[in-house]
Amino acid sequence: MNIDAIQNGIVIDHIPAGAGMELYKMLRLDALDCSVALIKNAHSNKDGKKDIIKIDAEIPVDFDLIGYLAPHAKINIIRDGKLVEKRDATLPKTLTNVIKCMNPRCITKTEQELDQIFRLTDPENRIYRCIYCETKAN
Ligand code: ZN
Repeated sequence: MNIDAIQNGIVIDHIPAGAGMELYKMLRLDALDCSVALIKNAHSNKDGKKDIIKIDAEIPVDFDLIGYLAPHAKINIIRDGKLVEKRDATLPKTLTNVIKCMNPRCITKTEQELDQIFRLTDPENRIYRCIYCETKAN
């Protein structure tokens, strides 16, 4: 594909350099049939280096996940070759079934049907804690 000319799709820009692969994996982009490009260490005037993900289809993406892994990312939605929407990723207040609690005594270990829910307790330092046992996410 011509990665500069997506007709309909999503471009996730300003991902911190090095975080692109993790985001790619956590968004399960490897499972997609459409073209996906991961550009590592692209030059950025603002950030020095950045990663970019281009998805050649308008798929539902998990904005919370993007915000968690790349809080300063910009999400561009492209339709008919035009930029129709630009969203800023934001640090989500809660994360549901994105990360797992590491505390072996957490109730989520025995009650498997419980959702794994973490709450943002310290936005400055990006600290999330399990809502059941208060364990800090790493
Ligand atoms: Zn827990």
